[in-house]
Amino acid sequence: MAFTLTLLGVGSALPANNRNPSAQFLQTGNTGILIDCGEGTQMQLRKCRIGFQKIHHIFISHLHGDHYLGLMGLLWSMNLLGRKIALNLYGPKALEKIIALQLTSSSSRLDFELRFKALDHGAPEVLFENKKLTLSSFPLKHKIPCSGLLVKEKQGPLRLIPAKLIKYDVPTYLRNGLKEGRDFIDPESGARIKNSIFTLPPSPVVSYAYCSDTAFSETLPDFIRNVTVLYHEATFLEEDAVRAKRTKHSTAAQAATIAKLSNAGQLILGHYSNRYDSLLTFLIEAEAVFHNTILGEEAHSYPVRIPGK
Ligand SMILES: [Zn+2]
Repeated sequence: MAFTLTLLGVGSALPANNRNPSAQFLQTGNTGILIDCGEGTQMQLRKCRIGFQKIHHIFISHLHGDHYLGLMGLLWSMNLLGRKIALNLYGPKALEKIIALQLTSSSSRLDFELRFKALDHGAPEVLFENKKLTLSSFPLKHKIPCSGLLVKEKQGPLRLIPAKLIKYDVPTYLRNGLKEGRDFIDPESGARIKNSIFTLPPSPVVSYAYCSDTAFSETLPDFIRNVTVLYHEATFLEEDAVRAKRTKHSTAAQAATIAKLSNAGQLILGHYSNRYDSLLTFLIEAEAVFHNTILGEEAHSYPVRIPGK
């Protein structure tokens, strides 16, 4: 399945240097996932031509304002636009109360179902799954409870080799069995032919991990091992490593170390502090540790695919 990541905001606490607070949109097949929702997210969605009703899930990593203050406005707009389909919302427990307070204070209500699930910030947890996808959260190390998000495609069936199906004259009704790993038993002769003659391994699965705000954490790679694309915050450069530690954020080199330890396919950096005008040094410092790094840019889309595929 094709995943496409669109970055809507790659700035940190304050909007500056033409960078917006955190938000991104991940399209996975027909399912749209909004990941964090800083102030200005609606405008960024508009700019990137992403319809609000294409969002089926919203994940809020933590309750620092630059990660969620755009949420209420977006919910309001969805309502005004006549949304009827349910919206799955995952976030810190207090978020549900915050939304309820804002609605009741203005005698308003949402005309669509908001399915809220509180995050467990202490341990990895599956938030949602269907036949094709799993969304799970995992703990990050920040000043307040904070979680990352892992979106993972589910393993598909074995892939059939058309030429072999023709050669052995495999009837259509037996082909699903081959995809599931069964051997072929010739209906006429009764001969058993090994499954491996007809099939190739399933397509490799793709996955995407979002690490919003976090200090360097040695346990983090355990949660996102072999992830296809990792977005990791890189608020600071090495010259500000002490500040990073104090504020429980990461440097670009630390983000790259996490990518390396996780055996990630690619690293995308973001959440840059507004103290830096130029981002080139972020790339230089990260690439020295993990080569396949790119600087996340707003209003850009990135395919989530296995390197070399
Ligand atoms: Zn934060």
